[in-house]
Amino acid sequence: MKTHARVVVIGGGVVGVSTLYHLALKGWTDAVLLERSELTAGSTWHAAGLLPLFNMSYTVGQLHKYSVDLYKRLPAETGQDVSFHVTGNLRLATCSERMDEYQKYCGTANTIGVPFQVIGPKQVRDLWPLIELGDGAATSKIVGALYHPDDGHIAPADLTMALRKGARARGAEINEQTEVTAVKRTPSGEWHLTTSKGNIVAEHVVCATGNYARQTGRMFGLNVPSIPVEHQYIVYDESPELKAYRQAGGRELAVLRESDQSYYLREERMGWILGPYESGAPARFADGVPDWFGKSLLEGDLDRLLQHVEAAQRRVPSLANCGIKDIVNGPIAYTPDGSPLIGPAWGARNLWLNEGHSFGITAAGGSGWQLAEWIVEGEPGIDMLGVDPRRYGPYTGKRYVVQKNEETYRNVFVIHFPDEERADARPAKTSPVYDKLARMGAVFGQRYGWERANWFAPAGVPAKDKWSFRRSNYFEHVGNEALRLRQHVGVIDLTPFTKHEVTGPGAESWLDGLVANKVPTKIGRIALCHALTRRGGIRSEFTITKIAEQHFYLVSAGAAERYDSDYLQQTLPRDGSVTLQNVTMSRGVFVLAGPRSRDVLAKLVDTPLDNAAFPWLTGQLAEVGLATEVYLLRVNFVGALGWELHFPIEYAHHLFDALFTAGKEFNIGMAGMRAMESLRLEKSYRMWGSDLTPDYTPYEAGLDRFVRLNKGAFIGKEALEKQLAAGVPNRFVTFEVHRVKDADALGNEPLFDLKGNIIGRATAGYYGHALRKSLGLGYIKPEFAAVGSDIEIEILGERKRATVLVDSPYDPENKDLRA
Ligand SMILES: Cc1cc2nc3c(=O)[nH]c(=O)nc-3n(C[C@H](O)[C@H](O)[C@H](O)COP(=O)(O)OP(=O)(O)OC[C@H]3O[C@@H](n4cnc5c(N)ncnc54)[C@H](O)[C@@H]3O)c2cc1C
Repeated sequence: MKTHARVVVIGGGVVGVSTLYHLALKGWTDAVLLERSELTAGSTWHAAGLLPLFNMSYTVGQLHKYSVDLYKRLPAETGQDVSFHVTGNLRLATCSERMDEYQKYCGTANTIGVPFQVIGPKQVRDLWPLIELGDGAATSKIVGALYHPDDGHIAPADLTMALRKGARARGAEINEQTEVTAVKRTPSGEWHLTTSKGNIVAEHVVCATGNYARQTGRMFGLNVPSIPVEHQYIVYDESPELKAYRQAGGRELAVLRESDQSYYLREERMGWILGPYESGAPARFADGVPDWFGKSLLEGDLDRLLQHVEAAQRRVPSLANCGIKDIVNGPIAYTPDGSPLIGPAWGARNLWLNEGHSFGITAAGGSGWQLAEWIVEGEPGIDMLGVDPRRYGPYTGKRYVVQKNEETYRNVFVIHFPDEERADARPAKTSPVYDKLARMGAVFGQRYGWERANWFAPAGVPAKDKWSFRRSNYFEHVGNEALRLRQHVGVIDLTPFTKHEVTGPGAESWLDGLVANKVPTKIGRIALCHALTRRGGIRSEFTITKIAEQHFYLVSAGAAERYDSDYLQQTLPRDGSVTLQNVTMSRGVFVLAGPRSRDVLAKLVDTPLDNAAFPWLTGQLAEVGLATEVYLLRVNFVGALGWELHFPIEYAHHLFDALFTAGKEFNIGMAGMRAMESLRLEKSYRMWGSDLTPDYTPYEAGLDRFVRLNKGAFIGKEALEKQLAAGVPNRFVTFEVHRVKDADALGNEPLFDLKGNIIGRATAGYYGHALRKSLGLGYIKPEFAAVGSDIEIEILGERKRATVLVDSPYDPENKDLRA
């Protein structure tokens, strides 16, 4: 074994080997893989080998697509067959909401170029002659299906061997029976790994240890939010009916998924493999994989699966004629949101994760591809926010992860409503006024572990969502909250915002090199600033206020706490000239906004609030009521006259009560996240994470006014200059969708020209209650972006005419803000 390598990959499952292969492919051949046992000994050897292209996530969808394409090429490249059966994949629907889900998915598939067909019951029968279409009584009726002709199933061990051959052929080294047992940093900043076969020093380390992710993480001081859950499939004997069908010349049947009954079924040697996702599957190995568990399985529990077996027998009656040969029960790595952890670990340089894969056979190709890109080039080639390990924070303790993973597992096949909010492990992180909000009818959602009020049910209205792809029970109430902020005054609790204090003599020049806009130079000024990737994409968005000389206050998205904090920490000058402090947990935030907000606030402060004394985009340190050291910032995300109050958290109750007492005569009330969504769309305010991602530059996002090319060097500047010279390929637009009955755009819908060619994608959408328009935001080719241009959007399978509007269609001159 080598004693030094540029990169070491720990773990020889399909994911680790794919990472090694892709690193070698990118020219990093000084790469070593260490496997404690033998290749595939983890979850890989017993996986069912399905490769579903279906995925609601824009990022994961692209990774899966890459994998399927790669696996088709691999045999020719490596000479190793991978038994890829391109059978197609058929997902049944037995209710209209399931069809809505498929139609919503089709938008994503269209934007990333995955081929699919939406078909009716007759085509289902043509594709799958052994199926029972259902009579609506004993067996529910199939109303349609989603068909992917290009995917199927593969032999996971063969796939791993092909990737191994490809990696070795390029010079990478693989060592089996080599367990990493300890880790330390060398004085020069490299990783020193102790293994059962000697030591190795590496510049970079990738952890791809599947079920071992937590104990591997612990060696590096990380609490990795991945804990496996039991997953079983049943292997059946030969089916006489299937055999007869195949012997009569029938083609291999598509992998079948009856989502509404939560199982998959595929052919296996003239018999079947049936894999349910059942309730009651327990998380395993939360404290680490015990020594007794090697290349082994867990005991099967057929009772848990019976309900799904019976459902499958109703749908495919001949299944009842097959005997059960085997039950495979193995641990399958999970994360709280079901997506893997691919990217840099937090708090440590040159440490990378490719962990938490529950569809690891499908994702291995794509995850290896983008992780290698990230390691070698310094950043990934596509937007990886949805799988970035730093989307989780310290709140993901063991019990949280166990509860969430069990919940995610049993919900694999539920309808993924866009407004779905799952119940387990909640409430966990709450704002101090949580109980007050609950008493006011708050219907909460959870983001980054925080409880956030999505909307408020008025007296007499049940405080509960009815989830849907269409306008639902809360639509009218959200509208009233939004209108209150346009007409009177309202409060939004945005305590979860990420907040950092940056101080020291080097603070200004450091921040200036980090963001595209000019960092404010005058005390009290506020600037919206974007940190870019080296490719010029938008990495983060910060609202930066200059509080005092050498003192800045940074506010960014609540869900970006670890993602932003880690980045700031990693880029901090090493000379001690800047101090960074994460104050997310010690400051609360209330937004006070609406035409009467000045009247309310005036009752609580001595500070004059008129435009001359307190102009828009400025901030002051103030006393508000009894609260001291409040940062009063005259900005907000709803486009109204108003202030954000960033206060020491201990004043939350006092300030909340004080605002409501002062605001009573002005009809003050609460507004939730959904009202904020409606309001921000009317102002074309871009949301980090959906509208603003590393896939688009600030020029594409129409944020030109927040870029100062003449200010000196900053990360991403060269890429922006190149893009300006070459021509900006996309333009951000706000558009009105016409003739919407009940389904607004939500993001990820394809946009078309009037001839039916795809010209872009929507990134967000909802109803603008003050404008009374169904609105969308998105990126399209520049030639279609002129105000007044007609385009089309496909929402849940229906093409709708849309018209490009002026940016900020509500109050384009910002008169409200400056009032
Ligand atoms: C029953 C079942 C059916 C499944 N079916 C499918 C399917 O149809 N399609 C699909 O896409 N996915 C499926 N999966 C999931 C799939 O098996 C996993 O997602 C995938 O195998 C994960 O691969 P991996 O490389 O991340 O992990 P693993 O295959 O578990 O590999 C991790 C490796 O790391 C090694 N390791 C750990 N610690 C150390 C250390 N300290 N030093 C050295 N080596 C170490 C382990 O020995 C192991 O070999 C299924 C899973 C189960 C349980």
